Amino acid sequence: MMLDENKISGLIEETKRVKKDEIIRIIKKSMEFKPLEISEAAALLNCEDAGLVNDIKKAAKAVKEKIYGRRMVLFAPMYLSNYCVNNCSYCGFKQSNKDISRKNLTLDEVAEETLNILKSGHKRILLVAGEDLKKCSVDYIVKAIETIYKVDYKGNKIRRVNVNLAPLEHDDLVKMKNANIGTYQLFHEVFHRETYAKMHPSGPKKDYDKRISIFDKCYQAGIDDVGIGVLYGLYDYKFETLALLSQAKYLDDKYGVGPHTISIPRLEPAAGFDVSSMSKYRMTDDEFKKVVAVLRLAVPYTGIILSTRENPALRDELVELGVSQLSAGSKTEPGGYGKPREATGQFVVSDERSLDEVISALADKGFLPSFCTSCYRSLRTGESFMALSKTGHIHEFCDINGLLTFYEYLIDFASPKTRSAGMRLIEKLKPELLSAEQTERFNSYAARFDAGERDLYV
Ligand code: SAM
Ligand code: SF4
Repeated sequence: MMLDENKISGLIEETKRVKKDEIIRIIKKSMEFKPLEISEAAALLNCEDAGLVNDIKKAAKAVKEKIYGRRMVLFAPMYLSNYCVNNCSYCGFKQSNKDISRKNLTLDEVAEETLNILKSGHKRILLVAGEDLKKCSVDYIVKAIETIYKVDYKGNKIRRVNVNLAPLEHDDLVKMKNANIGTYQLFHEVFHRETYAKMHPSGPKKDYDKRISIFDKCYQAGIDDVGIGVLYGLYDYKFETLALLSQAKYLDDKYGVGPHTISIPRLEPAAGFDVSSMSKYRMTDDEFKKVVAVLRLAVPYTGIILSTRENPALRDELVELGVSQLSAGSKTEPGGYGKPREATGQFVVSDERSLDEVISALADKGFLPSFCTSCYRSLRTGESFMALSKTGHIHEFCDINGLLTFYEYLIDFASPKTRSAGMRLIEKLKPELLSAEQTERFNSYAARFDAGERDLYV
């Protein structure tokens, strides 16, 4: 993929004085769930009129509600290794950080971490590692994935392992595919080439072109479920958002299926990195809310992932505006779930609530916490997933599976307070979300859960 930086900068300039009527037209278009052109997203990002910004947010809420309902998918990251040969200036794991405590999980430790994550109630793991193929080889990562899938806690297993790893070569991507990964995530960090060069002075990550073409390699290796992202705070947020959308459009145009998810991390303090050194490009909370709303409208069918880098109050607001997946109860150091702080974490976590606390807060606001992984396991991914999604038929699976996985969580892992609030929510949502036939199915599966069966889905 070649990114036309001049075109993006030009669009930002050209759309600075777009008329009110044009903004209203774009908002109306987005309400029909039509993906926006990059120029239209630029116009929305440039809009400063408080009333219109409010309308953009309202539209984003409506689109989110229509496409995703009240479901909120939850996951936990597992850091496999904090060894790294790169020197990304913003990251605690960079090689030049000589005095941090580094750790590569052994396979036994991977199993222990998986057990700890399972015991909190999670069913999805995002496996994360620094880049050091000598210390943490692809074959080793594959063994770690196999280990994670094998661990069983009272009939509960991790049902989906997504990965966030450095760009791999074709044969290694095929190994990942064969290891049954869910999404292959990779954030470009900063699309502005000059800034990219400054932030990545050495190591393989220095190669901008290799990083930006990773998803072509993924599709060629049979991985059609990919997650893109940008690290906000390194360069102008409008430029970076439009570049991110250009990457999504490129993949959609070329392969007929765009990214499954977009991640939107913001810079956090980290070992050996003073975040105030980047204050020029700090994205404020208000700007962040607008970005999430514009992304929701621009790519309505792409999941938006928010991590525990953000504080609880802001997470609550962003969830309303378009975020569809949240990490919860996260640790960013290898081994952090069993032995916190033995190794150095990647960055500072702002939302330190447990999974149970996050779920309780979501349920209070009427959100349906979902641990569903059924699409991927029923081979509804890539093009077939998008076809279901775009015709609205995905609800037939998501709502009942969301309710079923939430029920399983409540009986196995929830605190008494969360359990009673959650059960009340399920009873409230059943008539709203399920047909008579689905209600019957839900009730019969719930009875089987009560009798000890697990992992029933449609
Ligand atoms: N090492 C691989 C890579 O760089 O692609 C894999 C993942 S890296 C451990 C995960 C992500 O953390 C990076 O892509 C980056 O966006 C993010 N990250 C690094 N330092 C951060 C910081 N100080 N604050 C917030 N996010 C950060
Ligand atoms: Fe290494 Fe990734 Fe951190 Fe860069 S962001 S130093 S590649 S772990």
